[in-house]
Amino acid sequence: MKVIETIKEMQELSKKHKSEGKVISVVPTMGYLHKGHLRLIEKAREISDIVITTVFVNPTQFAPDEDFEAYPRNFERDSKLAESGGTDYIFHPSVNEMYPMGFSTAVVMSGITKKFEGKSRPNHFAGVTTVVAKLFHATVADKAIFGQKDFQQCLVIKKMVKDLNFPTEIIISPTVREQDGLAMSSRNKYLSEEDRKNAGILFRALEKAREEIEKGEYQRKIINAHMIKTLRTVPSIKIDYSLSADAETFEEPEVFPAGREIVLLIAAYLGKTRLIDNMLVRIPQNLGDNSGKFVEGL
Ligand code: AMP
Repeated sequence: MKVIETIKEMQELSKKHKSEGKVISVVPTMGYLHKGHLRLIEKAREISDIVITTVFVNPTQFAPDEDFEAYPRNFERDSKLAESGGTDYIFHPSVNEMYPMGFSTAVVMSGITKKFEGKSRPNHFAGVTTVVAKLFHATVADKAIFGQKDFQQCLVIKKMVKDLNFPTEIIISPTVREQDGLAMSSRNKYLSEEDRKNAGILFRALEKAREEIEKGEYQRKIINAHMIKTLRTVPSIKIDYSLSADAETFEEPEVFPAGREIVLLIAAYLGKTRLIDNMLVRIPQNLGDNSGKFVEGL
């Protein structure tokens, strides 16, 4: 495995491999790798000849009051893990390499970037789309693997690729979880012992909503209420949002149509740590008359 620090060298290597007919996959990350990232790297290994893992903590997707400086970093450990997962190249540019003096272009998307995560973190997705566009150009990858853990990000990247005609194929890989259901995240390291014990509540809230949908619930507000009620069993939790939406359009109708795939989305703070999670659920084909039967006590 080789570490590449400049865009020029990365592009030249990728172009050479492409001229040899090799298929290249990229796994964009901010480092501090865990088993969730590793699954993406392994997936890339399965479907391509050359695997590039990028490790870059992108300053432009953090707001000034967020954790850019404090974001956990350990490049030595990342290198070992990335190599064990089958990475051929780690692309590890400096901030100056990615955003040299005079840099002034951005990829900005309207619509779905304004909702949910975008509402709580107003410039976040512009930072994400811009850096991902740059990483696609730097790596000249044929395929890119992203984690469902960041569901809205997946939708945004897919849309950017479609809207701007990137030739890159986007592959989404399922969320990897801890034993209690907590989605793995570099930020879990911030959790106190007490908060870590409580953190499984996000997954339990998603599971509760899924169960209710499978029993026949299709009214959006009731689905949301089931999640909120479950989350509130942890008194210290601060809910940023906890909602359900059409998984393709992010629309929020009063009732979800039969057979439609929806996404349950949660962002919540435990202590100062902001956790996000989501789950895809399909509304049953036969709606029956169970909707609203579980409202009592909500
Ligand atoms: P990050 O380093 O947090 O920016 O994440 C880099 C990539 O890894 C993104 O595509 C994430 O969605 C993905 N990822 C992060 N955590 C997980 C997880 N627990 N399971 C699957 N993918 C993940």
